Amino acid sequence: MRAIKALILDRDGTLIEHVPYLHDPALIRVLPGVREGLRAALDAGLTLYLHTNQSGVGRGMFTLAQAEACNVRLIELLDLGKAPFARICTAPEGPKEPAVYRKPSPRFAREIMAERRIAAGELCYIGDRGSDLETAHAAGTRAVGVATGLDDLAAELSAVGLGHFPVFPSFRAAVDHVLSITA
Ligand SMILES: [Mg+2]
Repeated sequence: MRAIKALILDRDGTLIEHVPYLHDPALIRVLPGVREGLRAALDAGLTLYLHTNQSGVGRGMFTLAQAEACNVRLIELLDLGKAPFARICTAPEGPKEPAVYRKPSPRFAREIMAERRIAAGELCYIGDRGSDLETAHAAGTRAVGVATGLDDLAAELSAVGLGHFPVFPSFRAAVDHVLSITA
């Protein structure tokens, strides 16, 4: 039996090319293998969630509406139906503001666990930054990394003592790993 029932996906550097402080939907490029990986996860019965830190909102660089317009464009480009994500969390806080949903806050993951009655071990984060996997660590969920962002994820993870999380060279490889985990 498959162990993981839901994925919490990072956006920038994981599903789309990381453009720092992206707020123009025209600049969105879906990374290779992402659509196929998400299709495979949906076909396997997994529920998808999107969790994206958008500190550019808190920093006054763009509006929450602009960040959300980028989410809408991503969904259009994925072409996996109108609502491939059961819920989207766009965290607008800047680094100096108290974190509510800003990763590594575990709040979003905990809400999903409570709402959907999903155990922590049935949830898996996929992300390209240390903060994605720190979120998983804080919430007690599983996590896998993808080396498709701007930073050296393996180095980031060992710096914060999370080098035990696996890192994959592509999103598709990460999803295939997740789908291979059995309870
Ligand atoms: Mg990212």
